[in-house]
Amino acid sequence: MVKTFEDFKLNRQILNAVEDAGFTHPSPIQEKAIGPVLSGQDIFGIAETGTGKTAAYVLPLIMQLKYAQGDAPRALILAPTRELAMQISEHVTLFSKYTDLRTVVIYGGVGGKAQGDSIKAGCDLLIATPGRFLDLYLAGKINTSYLRHLVLDEADKMMDMGFIGSIHRILEVVPRKRQNLLFSATMSPLVEKIAGDFLKHPTIIQVAPQATPAKSVTQVLYYVPNFKTKINLLQHLLKDEEAVKRLIIFCKTRLVADNIFSFISRRFGEDAVRVIHANKGQNTRINSLQAFKNGELRVLVATDVASRGIDVSEVSHVINFDVPIIIEDYVHRIGRTGRANSLGDAITFCNPAEEYYVKKIEKLIRQTIPVAEIPKEVFVEET
Ligand code: ADP
Ligand code: MG
Repeated sequence: MVKTFEDFKLNRQILNAVEDAGFTHPSPIQEKAIGPVLSGQDIFGIAETGTGKTAAYVLPLIMQLKYAQGDAPRALILAPTRELAMQISEHVTLFSKYTDLRTVVIYGGVGGKAQGDSIKAGCDLLIATPGRFLDLYLAGKINTSYLRHLVLDEADKMMDMGFIGSIHRILEVVPRKRQNLLFSATMSPLVEKIAGDFLKHPTIIQVAPQATPAKSVTQVLYYVPNFKTKINLLQHLLKDEEAVKRLIIFCKTRLVADNIFSFISRRFGEDAVRVIHANKGQNTRINSLQAFKNGELRVLVATDVASRGIDVSEVSHVINFDVPIIIEDYVHRIGRTGRANSLGDAITFCNPAEEYYVKKIEKLIRQTIPVAEIPKEVFVEET
């Protein structure tokens, strides 16, 4: 059984970078995927968000590319959003720092000229969102004839976002002889479809989902009669700035997210909070996320769609303002916290209509979430 990164056929440059990054042990998906990727196989990898899928393919890809060569990209990694493309690019830069490999990341929402120029200047590994890849390809800025590795990351999100057509177009403009890697957090008919279209006799690597939240997360459930009381309760919890230091508030819709955002910025100041959801431009989303990561913001309000796949550590609290209706999202949401805090690290507000989903969540996680009393002063009678 493989136990350390040293057990893979990775070279010193990569192993040193891995060590610098503080990765001591491969995660389960890395343990299973690195060897097969290194040997050139097509891979269909499925493991939950946050389980280290990026390094599972980035490390062996860097190993295969080894050093700068020619001018045209030899590996292409496709990701659904600018944020994810940038996160992948951060990983690649980190792990290739002792090599001379040239990485370029391209995405929409900004001008394409500089991106095209950096590809032309020499690029071994290209990371792209599908739309921007096609734009620059059609503009003659990308020579695809040397591509030998193609990665489709976050395939489920790609399908959710309707990229299947773009992916097919990309498949038509890359060389036939290549290694294909597909990674996804979940399986769905569309993910299977694109995997079928794209992978040749793939090795399927699946890591069983972790349906139980980490032990370090303290969960609390409030039964809240109505929206007004949810708002009051939120305000009550936010008052304790010492305990509730950095939190993500999850909402079911953009509308609720926007409402919560306005409420918090009125009460606690505009500098304390940002909101991310699918209606926000890519630029706004990435800035907000970065500000939150840097610790400039205390509160991030988010919908599940906007936050899926996003890696933010050091969150003191997660508040589920709404109970997630896709019950698996509960585990994803609360997986962002888990640093002992007295109040409960993951706090869920449940109105009568949401009790049904709480029951389903409790079944899924095989735990009963402890219930806390609503303080009297926040309670508002139904009007
Ligand atoms: P996924 O793509 O599966 O959602 P990521 O690849 O984005 O997950 O990894 C999630 C986080 O875990 C990142 O911050 C990453 O740097 C970190 N990570 C990944 N693998 C390891 C490891 N073996 N040891 C420590 N941290 C890791
Ligand atoms: Mg990922």
